Amino acid sequence: MSALIKEIKKMEAGPQLVTAEGWVRTKRDSKTVCFIELNDGTCLKGLQVVADKEKFDNNLLSSISTGASIVCEGTLTESLGSDQAVELSASKITLLGEAPESYPLQKKRHTLEYLREIAHLRPRTNTIGAVARVRSTMAYAVHKFFQENGFYYVNTPLITASDAEGAGQMFQVTTFDLDNIPKTEEGKIDYSKDFFGKKTNLTVSGQLEGETYATALRNIYTFGPTFRAENSNTKRHLAEFWMIEPEMSFCTLEGDMEIAQNFLQYIFKYTLEHCEEDMDFFSKFVEPGVKDTIIHVSESPFVHMTYTEAIKELEKSKDKFDYKPFWGCDIQTEHERFLAEEICKSPVIVTDYPKEIKSFYMKLNEDGKTVRAMDVLVPRLGEIIGGSEREAGLDLLQQRMKELGLREEDYWWYLDLRRFGSVPHSGFGLGFERAVQYVTGMQNIRDVIPYPRAVKQADF
Ligand code: ATP
Ligand code: MN
Repeated sequence: MSALIKEIKKMEAGPQLVTAEGWVRTKRDSKTVCFIELNDGTCLKGLQVVADKEKFDNNLLSSISTGASIVCEGTLTESLGSDQAVELSASKITLLGEAPESYPLQKKRHTLEYLREIAHLRPRTNTIGAVARVRSTMAYAVHKFFQENGFYYVNTPLITASDAEGAGQMFQVTTFDLDNIPKTEEGKIDYSKDFFGKKTNLTVSGQLEGETYATALRNIYTFGPTFRAENSNTKRHLAEFWMIEPEMSFCTLEGDMEIAQNFLQYIFKYTLEHCEEDMDFFSKFVEPGVKDTIIHVSESPFVHMTYTEAIKELEKSKDKFDYKPFWGCDIQTEHERFLAEEICKSPVIVTDYPKEIKSFYMKLNEDGKTVRAMDVLVPRLGEIIGGSEREAGLDLLQQRMKELGLREEDYWWYLDLRRFGSVPHSGFGLGFERAVQYVTGMQNIRDVIPYPRAVKQADF
């Protein structure tokens, strides 16, 4: 393997031989030379390769077309007039794999919708290549933040028998032959005969299991696949997505909010620092000004607001909404966006939601009506984080479960955390793709994950 093109571009001009490998993005001919833009995916802008037509076989040059893979050897010379410091003046070119005219990524601009149909080739485009680099950098930053702040990485199960508080519609996991499902004498499905001996699903959240490790190791985080049978076509929901769920013991909602802000700001800053070229690209061609927004957001404190305050603000503008806001209603995406975009003009953390619209495990406030929940809302997307302080009192938790008709025997291990050494603890969930969407300005969540899974979409 020779040097990466991103490294070669930083080298100085000189007589030493350099080898560059990659895929041809474009080829341009002048009378005497042929200009090839060579890209190996390690950076946005490729390396310009200049081939003197006299020195190369005409057949070779004409078979080097967009999409072909080649190896070029030569020396680096200072580039005249163009926007790069050096170019490769080729002395030897080897064609590894040609790409005939049927190559779907010819030079013209393609829509993101079309690119989704050729998801196996789309990382070779500027936009999807940039998304892939930013996504990888952000994933690294996630681990770096937690590892440097005393959190342990915990892997919670993907197949689970617990319903994780109905966070979303679940996909069932079974080895039953669907044409011949075992039934009990009463005619019900006999799950004791299924693979796990009980009904199982793909996880919608690792939180409950995460809590068990947080109440042992103090601070933990998960970062893994999550599945929700979201039966709607939105630009911010996938059926398979990656979620990051930190959980902290001896931590109240205030600490939870502080960590959420520090965490987001850390990954934003890290990405700005390490993906400068890609961020400039997004800011210029994808979402004008997104880079400045992310710089600003990574430095200024998020606005805080209670649910009650948020509803008051929304009611003042109720004519603007399809769904009229009122105290007790679930905050809709249009409301979330309005709060972040118009009222706060910044990310905003909304806290203390009515208990009826939140999960059973959230700590009840003294008013008996609201719970210690928080959502982080950002412009363009609405919610990117949902979190809370968890109910640490056994009695209160049992009472809440009863009200909601949840069976104690299904949560016996979860309740044990309140029976033995219970502590105040809090956590949150960040949808990784929503964070990538926010940073890159990409409109549709299906373009920030390599192979999106959504309703009627499971190709590749
Ligand atoms: P929403 O209201 O946007 O559906 P939610 O309230 O269902 O979100 P939570 O259950 O709190 O979300 O999940 C935590 C985080 O996971 C969300 O803040 C969001 O970033 C992300 N998330 C939830 N559902 C999806 C999905 N279907 N696709 C991608 N990310 C998701
Ligand atoms: Mn949801």
